Amino acid sequence: MEEIKNFRQTRSEGQMQSLVLSLKVCPVCDSLTRAEAEHCGLCGWRGQFTTDVTQVSESLASLLEKCPELLQTLAPTCAPSFLTRLREVLTREIKLRKRLDLSA
Ligand SMILES: [Zn+2]
Repeated sequence: MEEIKNFRQTRSEGQMQSLVLSLKVCPVCDSLTRAEAEHCGLCGWRGQFTTDVTQVSESLASLLEKCPELLQTLAPTCAPSFLTRLREVLTREIKLRKRLDLSA
């Protein structure tokens, strides 16, 4: 359970929520699947999935207990993502150019 405590400490409540909302549970094999997936990646089930927040949270908790390193894949919040950094660089670049245009 230590990983779950750490997970809650390093991720905000909002991040936890959006992670839980982006997942669903397969009723056949109980595995977690991305909410947008049409079928279960494990057993191939197509149909109704469990999106109940409590059940998804429980599944996620037990999955992270077995495989804590998945946390970084599911919620990579420790380091800014490549896209975030790229956006920052581009924003800075645009601001710089605007400043140069004004002075010219
Ligand atoms: Zn399944």
